[in-house]
Amino acid sequence: MTPLTSPPADLVPAERSGTPAVAGQDSAVPMPAVPALAAPMLTTPMLTTPTLAAPTLAAPTLATPTPTAPTPTLAVPMPVVPALAAPTLATQMLPTPTLATPMLIAGGTVIAPDAVFSPGWVDIRAGRIVGCGAGEPPRKPDFSFPESTLAAGYVDIHTHGGGGSSFNDADSSVAAAQIAATHRAHGTTTLMASLVTAPLDEFERTVAALAGLVEQGLLAGIHLEGPWLSPAHRGAHDEALLRAPDPESIDRIIRAGRGTVRMVTIAPELEGGLAAVRQIVGFGAVAAIGHTDANYDMTRQAIAAGATAGTHVFNAMRQIHHREPGPALALLEDPAVFAELIADGVHLHPAIVRFIIESPSRPVFVTDAMAAAGADEGEYKLGALDVSVSDGQARLADGTIAGSVLTLSEAVRFAVHTAGVPVEVAVRAATQNPADMIGLADRGRLAPGNRADLIVLDAGLQVTATLQSGAWVTPA
Ligand SMILES: [Zn+2]
Repeated sequence: MTPLTSPPADLVPAERSGTPAVAGQDSAVPMPAVPALAAPMLTTPMLTTPTLAAPTLAAPTLATPTPTAPTPTLAVPMPVVPALAAPTLATQMLPTPTLATPMLIAGGTVIAPDAVFSPGWVDIRAGRIVGCGAGEPPRKPDFSFPESTLAAGYVDIHTHGGGGSSFNDADSSVAAAQIAATHRAHGTTTLMASLVTAPLDEFERTVAALAGLVEQGLLAGIHLEGPWLSPAHRGAHDEALLRAPDPESIDRIIRAGRGTVRMVTIAPELEGGLAAVRQIVGFGAVAAIGHTDANYDMTRQAIAAGATAGTHVFNAMRQIHHREPGPALALLEDPAVFAELIADGVHLHPAIVRFIIESPSRPVFVTDAMAAAGADEGEYKLGALDVSVSDGQARLADGTIAGSVLTLSEAVRFAVHTAGVPVEVAVRAATQNPADMIGLADRGRLAPGNRADLIVLDAGLQVTATLQSGAWVTPA
């Protein structure tokens, strides 16, 4: 696709010693295992008074998560809590405490929640961010990146696979580790597992297996994409397995996840669809409207019933018509709605990427990546369906797009370099917006109280180093 705009001159990749710049790819670096912390530093206050040099940074009103083991109540089925207001979520998402050396990191630019600092710094202790500010750092930095931009680690809430594996694979534990490592090598430090439609028995087993990985902290949650989807907009879902939502099957599958199912994509126009939206939200999960033939009014009703997101808006849904605006417009005009978009140059025209970003809704970059992301092109499976991957596109035999081979890192570059989206806007759509969408209170922001997930971006927006829970997982 021809870029509509040329990259600004200051975005031309700069020479950085020791940084192999491969066009369109981040360098994949083997990741050392993160050693477990022998003695959790519980006596250390996690939130020191932030030395905020800039008045724009919000006060750390976040509940201070401490690296304790999840409380026993988190293992029981999720209580009815509003999806975005559950203070227990942050605690639940915490992985095993990690050994993390206190460190001060300085950057030429720092993308903070409500401001961009040039230069700026981030202070980290015990795997948490304890300060972030503008100007010269308060003491000698341990790491300094004067030519680079520091941002929160990417948060991908809609991913099916990568590195040759899929979350739907029979051995989901092995697959999940492979997928997480593949996306982490490109700066994604928080990943939610998306499942394509499968027979209910298989779905239940896979959800139960992945729930354990969420409880261990490898994954941030599970997204059920199907089986309650419209046959008319099934995309790469097996039509024979699609069904109208019934309360029993929703209850069964969500409970199999022991509170880890955080998102369900649903076509609200199906029989029982609006009741299903209320049921999903009642479990504390996000009801996302997608793979749908809903018209504008039905979409508004689903939002009124509690739906707060649109699944890859424009893709696999009824399209906009000037007399029947359909689901896309109903989603994008609502500031309370999070709008997923796949910015890979295949799913959406760059002008539509810009249109979504500038809409009243809150944009969320997702990859919708299938197994070929970060792996060789060729023949793959997506659920039960055969997918051919070539020329950066994943398609069924009939030409239907079947997910992407995207990483969030590439999505941000496409949005900035091709669609003309400002860097900080693109970064927020890949960090704090997705974290907010699924209620992850301690992710997606370089702000006190957040888990110390940080990426270093070079001038071409390639990820050159990644910090997860305060430990480097790709070299600094
Ligand atoms: Zn998907």
